[in-house]
Amino acid sequence: MEIKFIRSKAIGQKSRPKDSELGFGKYTTDHMFLMDYTRLKGWHNARIEPYQELRLDPTAMVLHYNQEVFEGLKAYYLEDGGIVLFRPEKYIERMQASARRMVMPEVPPDLFLRAIKELILLDRGWIPKSDGTSLYIRPTMIAVEPGLGVRPSEQYLFYIVLCPVGAYYPEGFNPTKIYVSDEYIRAAKGGVGETKTSGNYGPTLFVSQQAAKKGYTQVLWLDAKELHYVEEVGTSNIFFFIHDELVTPPLGGTILPGVTRDSVLQLVRRWGLKVSERLISIEEVIGGCKNGSLKEMFATGTAAVISPVGEIYYKGKDFRVANGKIGELSQKLYEEITGIQYGRREDPFGWRVRIT
Ligand SMILES: *Cc1c(COP(=O)(O)O)cnc(C)c1O
Repeated sequence: MEIKFIRSKAIGQKSRPKDSELGFGKYTTDHMFLMDYTRLKGWHNARIEPYQELRLDPTAMVLHYNQEVFEGLKAYYLEDGGIVLFRPEKYIERMQASARRMVMPEVPPDLFLRAIKELILLDRGWIPKSDGTSLYIRPTMIAVEPGLGVRPSEQYLFYIVLCPVGAYYPEGFNPTKIYVSDEYIRAAKGGVGETKTSGNYGPTLFVSQQAAKKGYTQVLWLDAKELHYVEEVGTSNIFFFIHDELVTPPLGGTILPGVTRDSVLQLVRRWGLKVSERLISIEEVIGGCKNGSLKEMFATGTAAVISPVGEIYYKGKDFRVANGKIGELSQKLYEEITGIQYGRREDPFGWRVRIT
């Protein structure tokens, strides 16, 4: 399918923030990619247009029944001026899996990747260049058929927008304080916890707000059945370096299969460290804080890459992790992964995909 270009008249009218003011998800670029789907025609009308508001019927199904899936990946400037994506095929694959679970059509992967590349090339002037900055890519699919009544939509819109984003750690890598929710849950077995669909996020805001009021940055979720096993932290996966073993909860349907999680697992296996994808209870974690066997704890995700945890709140008490300091392994993983992303390190797994 051809991608039609409808170029922006507005180029240069959108103000370009300074790299130091970027933050996360505050600014979008000049253009967006869009493509329509109907049951009869399949995917059609692939186009790049000026960034603009969407027009939706007030009964568009996404607004009522949440048939929506999205992704989040990044593009980086290399020191030689080239532009790369990090493991784009993994994110595309995950969006296909999310779409299947939500009874939505899959975007052909080659067209998906081409759309990302064309859009980035057109808006390449928006990719920030300072250390630690990048271009965040947000592909989204929504059910746009008008009509009330719960059933799968027969019309969809797929679109991609780009956000220049700042360095996640402008003042350096700071350990976070996390709040263990022992009352509310994120995802139950048989549900959609492993799917990047908007319905998973709204219900977490109530708990995040409670945590924020008490001074915690993220919520750690326990399993829905027993509130006993650790699952995820906020919108990140979680790792524990305990008794010389790196542990992360296994993917079992309730946990989002993170690309960063997978990258960490591949790297540490290559380094020869002992790694287990196994159940880990909150008691084991708290016990590890008390007796010092928990040497490091960190969250992983595309936005922050590695986010060390310095303190845990559980059932009315605070527990320090590794004296609130950044662990050696967390630091090493952060440097290795960002090093691969920005082209400063070798790329033994072929994770970088060059656009130019
Ligand atoms: C996106 C996401 C992650 C992290 O996945 P990455 O591919 O590493 O960005 C983890 N948990 C949840 C709930 C997420 O939405």
